[in-house]
Amino acid sequence: MARCKRTRNLEVHHRRRDGGNDLSNAEVLCGSCHTATSTYGVSGTTPPAFTVATKIAALRRAGDQCECTRSGGCH
Ligand SMILES: [Zn+2]
Ligand SMILES: [Zn+2]
Repeated sequence: MARCKRTRNLEVHHRRRDGGNDLSNAEVLCGSCHTATSTYGVSGTTPPAFTVATKIAALRRAGDQCECTRSGGCH
């Protein structure tokens, strides 16, 4: 599955709930791909929020494009 091409409605997703809020645990996803993640909306451990600086860095790293390469049909 190719990478999602969406560039709007981007959110910064936690790759791992217990992975902290560093850039290494950040994944830029569009709303569609974010909603499709297995942990979206599931109650449980809430990871620490990303800082604005980390969000900006993640978006820059992603080229302001969704980073999803999943094959679940979300994009
Ligand atoms: Zn996407
Ligand atoms: Zn996707």
